[in-house]
Order: sequence, then structure tokens, then C-alpha cells
Amino acid sequence: MAYAFDTLQIHAGAAPDPATGARQTPIYQTTAYVFRDADHAAALFNLQEVGYIYSRLTNPTVAVLAERIATLEGGQGAVCCSSGHAAQIMALFPLMQPGCNVVASTRLYGGTVTQFSQTIRRFGWEAKFVDFDDTDAVEAAIDENTRAVFCEAIANPGGYITDLDAISTISDRAGIPLIVDNTSATPYLCRPIEHGATLVVHSTTKYLTGNGTVTGGCIVDSGKFDWSASDKFPSLSEPEPAYHGLKFHETFGSLAFTFHGIAIGLRDLGMTMNPQAAHYTLMGIETLSLRMQRHVENAEKIAGWLERHPAVDYVTYAGLESSPYHNRVERICPKGAGGLFTVALKGGYDACVKLVDSLEIFSHVANLGDTRSLVIHSASTTHRQLSPEQQEAAGAGPNVVRISIGIEDADDLIADLEQALDKANA
Ligand SMILES: *Cc1c(COP(=O)(O)O)cnc(C)c1O
Repeated sequence: MAYAFDTLQIHAGAAPDPATGARQTPIYQTTAYVFRDADHAAALFNLQEVGYIYSRLTNPTVAVLAERIATLEGGQGAVCCSSGHAAQIMALFPLMQPGCNVVASTRLYGGTVTQFSQTIRRFGWEAKFVDFDDTDAVEAAIDENTRAVFCEAIANPGGYITDLDAISTISDRAGIPLIVDNTSATPYLCRPIEHGATLVVHSTTKYLTGNGTVTGGCIVDSGKFDWSASDKFPSLSEPEPAYHGLKFHETFGSLAFTFHGIAIGLRDLGMTMNPQAAHYTLMGIETLSLRMQRHVENAEKIAGWLERHPAVDYVTYAGLESSPYHNRVERICPKGAGGLFTVALKGGYDACVKLVDSLEIFSHVANLGDTRSLVIHSASTTHRQLSPEQQEAAGAGPNVVRISIGIEDADDLIADLEQALDKANA
């Protein structure tokens, strides 16, 4: 029976604990699991039998979360890991080799721009950044060494919406997987796999947990990509030397990427999610749809109010009729454009800093997707490592603040913004 989202966000992946009947998923706070006998141990290590060996690889609490997120995204399998940034490395790892590149959007979370433009070069990987609204440029950037195309569904910080259908048409034609970071949208607002994504990555730190308690990440596999269609993905299609010559695609079919992520990715990179973090995220995810509805409702109201304020130059929220991305909302994220956007102030850098310092309900933090409303001046913080050109391209120029609208009372938030804008303008 196919259950609706609101039922799945509470039940998918979970069952009463077989040992105790505990209704809520227990925190399995254990490192290791006793083997029945030596044959059982050997079967587990050979991946002939699925089970628990050691919590760097799998843990029952974390497994419930992985299955829940996979179900909500409409994927075949998922691997949880220690942070959103870990999820990005884990997603690229089976695909890339030295000399390979990923074609990535210029409009990404600032930390991702830094990870892709600097840090992954140490592995011999490269990112080519292009404007994903220019589909010809995306197509032209893909070369014989490209192994992935990467974008955000609703791009941080501006809340811009990517035309996932157009991008996946291009990646399909090139025989390359499309990786979509769905952190800002969540599967409640957008389901990238339905728009052709191969893999979906999350920072579960944000809306999925929802209240700013833990960091975590997740990679969801659509199970739809044919890793053996070309010779570009030998880790998945050829004998994998890191697992005594196992052919993951041939052996595990549509779960090849998921098994590789656990058996090689978590085993050797060790970016594991701990069971406590999984517990907090499982608590949060139970109310995802309710929170997202309120985030969207508040964001629509507040973005509209800000747009009419005389101190405001422009607001980037795609839920506004004035947004050039408004026409994509219905198709890509039909339940709303999320709770994240930027506001440009006519008073420029100084007004932005004063606004941030004058807000009382809004917290000045480097986070988003909290029940609390949050604000940050991206150019001096999250996007600080970027060049001025990169900041502009990402929608994080010096005259702009990023706002993550919480689920408090919208009129209280508007009153707070009003008093702070008065001070910023004084
Ligand atoms: C926060 C964030 C990340 C990084 O996630 P962490 O959990 O902080 O490592 C990646 N992408 C987006 C869109 C984010 O908002």
C-alpha cells in the first residue's frame, strides 16, 4: 500500500523494536554486534548476508533514518553520514578519479563552492562552475572527463529554483549522473528524482532535523542510473580492488551505489553518522511537512512585506510574483518555494550589518532551516572565502543579507524586521 508523505515521515523505515517492543526507534548506542558464529561473520564481511558488523559502517538507528529519507525522496537506498559536506564527498567518491571533473552551478552554498573550487583539487578532482540557467553553457562544460553534474534544487542563499528537468535532460544525454543538493527544499517541497536526479544529497543538519541540534548528511540513490553503460564508472561497473574485486553493479543492481557507499565509502572514509544524531533527526523528520508548510506561509508573507519596504532594494524569494524564478515554482516545488531568501538593502554593506545587529527575534548564526528565524550577512561570513565575482554569482553580494524564516508568528517577525530596518536606515 502506498502511504502519503505525512504518514511516511513518521513510519517509513521504523517498526516496534523486535527485542523490547519499544515504539520509538531506540538509540542503539553500540560499536559492534555479536556474530552468531564464524560462518555468519564471514557471510557478513563478504556482503553475502546483510547485517550489522561495526557502527562505522551500519547501525540500526542510523539505518532507520536512511530508509526514511530514501522513502521520502522516492529513492532505492540511502547512506547517512556525518554532515552535508561529508555527503557531497561521499556522493562524488565512487564516481571520480584523479583528472575527473564535476560540472557545478555557480549558485551553491558558500561552503560547497569552497569545497569544490579548492579542497577537492587535493584529490585530483576539479569543478567547473557554470550558470545553470544557461543550459547551453552547462552542456558545453561537460567533457569526456566529467563524471557528475551538481546543483541545488532551491539554491542557497538566494532561494533560486533550478530547472531540474532541463538539467537532467542534458546530463542524461551525456550519460552522466545528476546530483541534486535538496537541503533547502526538502523532499516535502521538491522530489528531485522525479525530475531526473540520479543522486540526492542532504545536509540533515537543516530542515530535516529542523531545530539546530546536530550535523548530519545523507546521500539518496535513485537506483535508476546504468553504471555499466559506459566505462566511466569503474568503481561501480568493474571489479573494485578495494573490495577484493567485487563488481558492485553486477552484484547489487539498483542498490550498487548504496552498497558501495557503505562498504567502501563509510568503511574507508569514516564519515559516519552517530546514532544520537540519527535519533535527533528522526524526531525532527516526523514533523517535516507541518514545519515546511509554516516556513513557506511565513516566508511568503514576510518576503512580500519586505519587498514593499522603502529601505529594501529587492528580495530574491521565488515565491514572489516579481521573481524571475516564480514560473518554476509550480513545476519544481509545487508546495512552495521554501523559507530561504536574500534581501538587498539600498543602504548597502553598512545597513546590512546594522540590520543584523538590531534584530531581536532573528538570531545571527551560520545556519538555516531551524524552527527559529535566522539571519546572516553572507558576504562577511558563509561566502567570505569567495571572490567578489563568486559572491555576486552566488547571490551573496555585500549589499545582501540571507534570511531563513522560522515557524514563529509571522507578525512578530515582521515587527522585528521593521524596528531593525528603522535602525539600519537611521
Ligand atoms: C549547510 C549546507 C551544506 C553543508 O552541510 P553541513 O551539514 O553543514 O556539512 C550543504 N549544502 C547546503 C545547501 C547547505 O545549506
